[in-house]
Amino acid sequence: MSSRTPIIAGNWKSFKTLEEARALAAGVVQGVAGIPGVEVVLCPPFVSLATVLMSILGTPVQLGSQNAYLGEGAYTGEIAPRMLAGLCRYVILGHSERRRIFQEDDALINAKIKAVLGAGLAPILCVGETLEENERGQTEAVVSGQVRADLAGVEGWHWLQAGGVIAYEPVWAIGTGKACHGPAANEVIGMIRRLLVELYGAAAAGVRIQYGGSANAGNIAEFMAQPDIDGALVGGASLKVDEFVAMVRQTATLRPGA
Ligand code: PEP
Repeated sequence: MSSRTPIIAGNWKSFKTLEEARALAAGVVQGVAGIPGVEVVLCPPFVSLATVLMSILGTPVQLGSQNAYLGEGAYTGEIAPRMLAGLCRYVILGHSERRRIFQEDDALINAKIKAVLGAGLAPILCVGETLEENERGQTEAVVSGQVRADLAGVEGWHWLQAGGVIAYEPVWAIGTGKACHGPAANEVIGMIRRLLVELYGAAAAGVRIQYGGSANAGNIAEFMAQPDIDGALVGGASLKVDEFVAMVRQTATLRPGA
């Protein structure tokens, strides 16, 4: 049995008002209470972080932000990692929506990872290939290239000490309802794990690697039955209390955490 505690994180993207966020967080906290062995992370929009923090205080549920910038300064509209440090444990970086819509490249993502680690936070680094890259058989090259570039110059001890997480999210599966097959996702995630061990040594086998892309209560079991998949980064299905809680419950049953 794996010693990696499964991690189910909800990426609420740009959804939910303050009041809706409060209600969703409260519902999740209540729903997952007493479910052992799964780390649950909520990643609301920036404006709801403090409100959601109030809902999860004193519970095992963790908070994550969906982005961060490099530091404090004249960066209108941006949020510095140091501002998040008192609020969150995790920061999603490299999400395909940020790469595609906001033109974030590996160099910027790499700099953000270093800034976030420097603030004592744990990145959830998203990597994944597009449909075209997948159809051309380039998945392994693209994903390993992203991991190498995004982690360039990041010390292994720093990543491991922070508890950094990787999310393999095939771009073609995000928000499309067409999830990757469990064994195919496991193969890519296994490749990422071997790469981390190559980069950081044997201890990196303990890094948690999630699957993301149209994961829901109907297919989470397929992913959690795979030996290398340590949880899910969940978009659409994290916006509904019952569905998200059902994913956490199934994960606890299939992959009881350490
Ligand atoms: C995501 O945004 O990270 C994601 C996986 O979205 P969805 O679950 O909606 O595909």
